[in-house]
Amino acid sequence: MKPSPTPIVAALAAYDPGHDLEALRARAPPGGLVELGSNENAFGPCAGALAVVRGSDATALRRYPDPHARSLKSALAAHHGVTTAEIALGNGSHELLMQFAQAYAGLGDEVLYSQYGFAVYAIAAASVGATGVAATARPADDPQAPRGHDLDAFAAALTPRTRLAYLANPNNPTGTAFTLESFERFLSSVPTEVLVVVDEAYVDYAEEPGTASVLSIRDRFPNLVVTRTFSKIHALAGLRVGYAVADEAVVLTLERLRETFNINVLAQEATVVSLSDSAHLDSCRIANLRQRQLLTDALRSLGLGVARSRANFVLVDFEASGHAATVVERALLDRGLVVRPMHGYGLPQCLRITVGTDAEQARLLDAMREALS
Ligand code: PLP
Repeated sequence: MKPSPTPIVAALAAYDPGHDLEALRARAPPGGLVELGSNENAFGPCAGALAVVRGSDATALRRYPDPHARSLKSALAAHHGVTTAEIALGNGSHELLMQFAQAYAGLGDEVLYSQYGFAVYAIAAASVGATGVAATARPADDPQAPRGHDLDAFAAALTPRTRLAYLANPNNPTGTAFTLESFERFLSSVPTEVLVVVDEAYVDYAEEPGTASVLSIRDRFPNLVVTRTFSKIHALAGLRVGYAVADEAVVLTLERLRETFNINVLAQEATVVSLSDSAHLDSCRIANLRQRQLLTDALRSLGLGVARSRANFVLVDFEASGHAATVVERALLDRGLVVRPMHGYGLPQCLRITVGTDAEQARLLDAMREALS
């Protein structure tokens, strides 16, 4: 007999990262691969964060990192005007998203998220044997937030068994956002024993008035948790740092599940530097806005459906164009362009494309024109 996993784990499917990028890089065409599949920041990290990594030495690497990442927690607490006891750190926000389910849901409980919500929420629910419940999203032709979170549907999907709800604002992969006002109305209707996690991985890109962070209403809702990441606007996805701002009791609960040294030594230092470089973050935000608009306009001019995005990617719908997204995706890949297929999200007619530099978007658009011709 072989050792066998628990029935809960045996029933899980692993997270699908989209592509085997190492293999694709190894057989990239001349000119290299253009990677627009993972919503990374095309404009790169700040010089100070790079200098931290380049300047590391044997002493730094030989030692374990500070298990409490005190400097980083202090910097984040000062940044958000909260105490260090209200900050939890994860090896990417992905780790924290999993820990919320581990800590707050189990067999017989329900975990709520949205149809077309970020894939990790369903995985987190399943990983603890909880029942995942997907609230129906807004329709594809909704003028404000096509396929975005429908907060009324969320409220209607709450049951006495709901322990945890995940919402992403802006949402991946739809690029939609809800307003602070509508969220506050929703949250007021949620029983206080339900932990509500708002995943703000892309919030720095949402420039709309009213689409502010929900951090400002945390004081009145101790069951509200906000997650952020250094993987997007900070362009440090490779260092793996995410954090949650939460009630002290929630932070202490996560602490019981945390791997002691989950934030490595270079990540602790580089993120502090990145947090302080607001000029670099502003330049990334402005560059993203510009490139996103150019990308949206160019794809629309090819007859493709592109919903307005509040993030650093666009969701492209091929349905009305008469082209199959899977065929286009294959043709793009043959030309060295990596974008993200969306069948895992129940959107087989769509591809998600990350905002890129001028050069990357020019190559994408050339390849797209060829693929469509
Ligand atoms: N949340 C959302 C909505 C995301 O799209 C992602 C990654 O793409 C994450 C969280 C995870 O980010 P990380 O684990 O790199 O912090």
